[in-house]
Amino acid sequence: MLLGFNPGVSRIPSWWTGPDVICVECRKPVNKWNGIVCANYLYRRGKFRPCRQGWHGKCYRATSPGDVFPQIMLNDDMQGFMEGPTESERFGFARNGDNYVCPFQCNLCQFRNVHMRDPEATLLDDAMLCCIRRATLDSFWGRAEGRVRANLSSLRNMHERAQANFGLQDLLPAMGPFPLKDTFRMGPAIVMLKHLLDPGRYGDHITFSTLQKYRSSFSNVWGVSVQTLQDSIMARASAKMCTSTCPTNGLWFERFMGGVHSRMGDDHRSEAAISSCVMKLLLKCSEEDLLRTPSGVRRKFLVCAGLFWREFSRRDASRRSSPDSAQGVYSTE
Ligand SMILES: [Zn+2]
Ligand SMILES: [Zn+2]
Repeated sequence: MLLGFNPGVSRIPSWWTGPDVICVECRKPVNKWNGIVCANYLYRRGKFRPCRQGWHGKCYRATSPGDVFPQIMLNDDMQGFMEGPTESERFGFARNGDNYVCPFQCNLCQFRNVHMRDPEATLLDDAMLCCIRRATLDSFWGRAEGRVRANLSSLRNMHERAQANFGLQDLLPAMGPFPLKDTFRMGPAIVMLKHLLDPGRYGDHITFSTLQKYRSSFSNVWGVSVQTLQDSIMARASAKMCTSTCPTNGLWFERFMGGVHSRMGDDHRSEAAISSCVMKLLLKCSEEDLLRTPSGVRRKFLVCAGLFWREFSRRDASRRSSPDSAQGVYSTE
């Protein structure tokens, strides 16, 4: 009896020992360490043949000219994020080893996951592939370049040491295949990207905060859908912790949102602070107007305005942690 023998499957090498692929873009070889290789590249999934797709990092680029998604241009590197590529280049390409910090399936596999068919030469399919490419790049850029490079170097070192010292070919876990369904939730991601192009209240595009409402809505409906029966609650004494299977709370979606946030930044108009200087000026003007006004309705209005600013400053100061705004406002009393 041949235990574990599975004809047709046993002949397929593991992801790590499988053959190199030809770069889709430049047609030169890509191995596991000088580019990004689709997690499904070796494996037949459902009715689809293996995609065998891989790219050198710089060859996996945003779709041109279709990629018109907004990108903020930073003027400095105060966050320590800029390292290497210029601002206009950032978010426009992949880095070697991105697939080792973020799960990666190629455009073709993602399209198959969502539509259960191959893409056709139509405007609709082209637009979707463009969005899939953007979403994938955003998920990669949810991690800084130095971190990706360091992880790749460490991983390669570990893999080669295991091979050389112990003959271990498959020390590292299998990268694929992923099931033939939208496990990453690429669907909601590309819909969100499309929403990003809507005009915003303060600019050409909506803000990141507005975009997040889609993610919240999806999580909310997931929580009350039939899917929620798969979730579990861990309880100990009075403490409870929920585990969720909602994909928009998963690793890939988190990286995607992180990349979008880095690319477009955010605009918090509703939370803009009124500085202590401005508040003092408002109270001073109200007081001066009041002294100049003899009597009547106008005087009553100015009293109300002054009281409003005073009350506003109290509430604002108690809410904010900034010592400048809090002390500055209270010092006017
Ligand atoms: Zn290439
Ligand atoms: Zn693929």
